[in-house]
Amino acid sequence: MQIKKLSPLLANQIAAGEVVERPSSVVKELLENSIDAGAKRIQIDVDRGGARLIRVTDDGNGIERSQLELALERHATSKIEETKDLKAIYTLGFRGEALASISSVAKLTLSSKSTASDEGDSGWSAIAQGQDTAVDIQPRSMPNGTIVEVRDLFFNTPARQKFLRAERTEYVHIEETIKRVALASPEVAFTLKHNGKVTKRIPAAHSKEQQQQRVGTIVSNNFLSGSIFLDSDIEDLRLWGWISSPERHQNSNLSQYVFVNGRAVRDRTLNHAIRQAYEDLLPTGRVPAYVLYLELDPELVDVNVHPTKHEVRFSDARRVHDFITKTVSEHLQSQEEIYDASELRQVEE
Ligand code: ADP
Ligand code: MG
Repeated sequence: MQIKKLSPLLANQIAAGEVVERPSSVVKELLENSIDAGAKRIQIDVDRGGARLIRVTDDGNGIERSQLELALERHATSKIEETKDLKAIYTLGFRGEALASISSVAKLTLSSKSTASDEGDSGWSAIAQGQDTAVDIQPRSMPNGTIVEVRDLFFNTPARQKFLRAERTEYVHIEETIKRVALASPEVAFTLKHNGKVTKRIPAAHSKEQQQQRVGTIVSNNFLSGSIFLDSDIEDLRLWGWISSPERHQNSNLSQYVFVNGRAVRDRTLNHAIRQAYEDLLPTGRVPAYVLYLELDPELVDVNVHPTKHEVRFSDARRVHDFITKTVSEHLQSQEEIYDASELRQVEE
């Protein structure tokens, strides 16, 4: 038996197995990067359900030429520096894995023009072909911001490619990812194009009213019209958002969105806490819909639980659970449906 160190390409491909499950996972990682870069406008272009092309264009801070190659390397990040930074994460990314992983299973071009640098008109592209870890740097004329293009996903990992589903299915997953990210970042505008056609346009929302409209557009006006708005805090915990009134139940987990400090999560503690508040109010087998934002000190929540960062761990899960159950319960009792469906009709497209 001989022990050998994995080549960087193979190590990256193994890591990619954890975060890059399908085209929508690439979209999620790229959107998180754009948001971390302070983007206000993000365009997503996908061809063939993302299997052929995923392009994310943002107007964020960009990356300087000298850093482009490093950005594609594994364990390279601008978001944390030392162990203590892990105690409180303020960005969506921090693992320094996404671009390295994606570029190991697809043909990736990372183009950027940094707002910080003084490079005249030109931006730069780092081109990685997914065959090895070599990167080619070329000038590219572009506005400030970053463009990431991911072509031929899984072209060099046939085992993964086999699991790609029909174009439509992959597209629907991408749309769902964009919905989650857009709900998490109301101040950012999103445009989605599929096979060259605009399929979704989500303008930025600044006021509470605009946010409400956005929830109607993204989730559904039907949800919004039968929902109760809540906004409560106790000490350092705040919960706000929209919950379906007890008359408006559903039989699937659709339209259940929870965000913790701006991150979309699927968390058992949180879902359980919400369900418990509805317990005696819904017929058996029926579940609520909700868009809820939990805000708390980043030190009280660990997001470094799973590579996809969908899961979180609270340092005091019981307190968070009880706060949520209590807050949702109180608002359900008061039963104030604040929106009249007729007022929303004009919002409907
Ligand atoms: P992470 O997000 O965990 O830091 P990534 O592999 O996703 O790791 O990205 C690596 C680095 O590349 C980031 O830390 C950031 O500095 C830079 N980067 C990636 N995407 C963008 C973007 N859209 N705009 C600006 N910088 C970016
Ligand atoms: Mg990232």
